[in-house]
Amino acid sequence: MVASEGSSAQGPLARRLTVLSGPSGVGKSTVVAEIRRSHPRVWLSVSVTTRAPRPGETEGVQYHFVDDAGFDRLVAGGELLEWAEFAGNRYGTPRRPVEERLGRGEPVLLEIDLQGARQIRGTMPEARLVFLAPPSWEELVRRLTGRGTEPPDVIERRLDAARVELAAEKEFDVTLVNTSVRDVCDELLTLMAVQ
Ligand code: 5GP
Repeated sequence: MVASEGSSAQGPLARRLTVLSGPSGVGKSTVVAEIRRSHPRVWLSVSVTTRAPRPGETEGVQYHFVDDAGFDRLVAGGELLEWAEFAGNRYGTPRRPVEERLGRGEPVLLEIDLQGARQIRGTMPEARLVFLAPPSWEELVRRLTGRGTEPPDVIERRLDAARVELAAEKEFDVTLVNTSVRDVCDELLTLMAVQ
């Protein structure tokens, strides 16, 4: 029997995996929401989180919302491709749906934080890592404080994390500057070869 080349999601097929990362507040979820709206056929991984839903968020769309014990079970069962603690909550990527799609050669987009991107770099080195950068630090502060969904201490934690995340840009394969959501979506979809 001849092993078919690229049959493992860890192998060459992982080239179809695109990871979108960048500091909190830079607009990653807006970009993902726009892709969901304009290109509903592009499959987006839905992460698991222990964070409480924000107004307007729906179970199974932006996230699967679980409690700490539920998250612990997913970690213990090896069911997450990567996971990280971010600003007091845990976030992770369910492994099976991603591996199934990559196994079929279909494009997959993950929107995750820097720690998660580094884990993917380690386990799936063929993935393409895309860094979404703000037009300026001032603009990032404005977006994070203007969102109005988090209390000041949480915003402060997210700004601290953003300083660290911005310094990691050089670890990524591609940087896209978020001057326009539409432009970033077009560039991302072109990179993913889905348009
Ligand atoms: P938020 O609470 O603003 O939705 O997300 C906070 C941070 O967690 C963002 O940087 C977001 O990209 C990241 N994040 C969302 N899902 C995942 C995931 O599955 N894994 C990791 N490592 N980070 C995630």
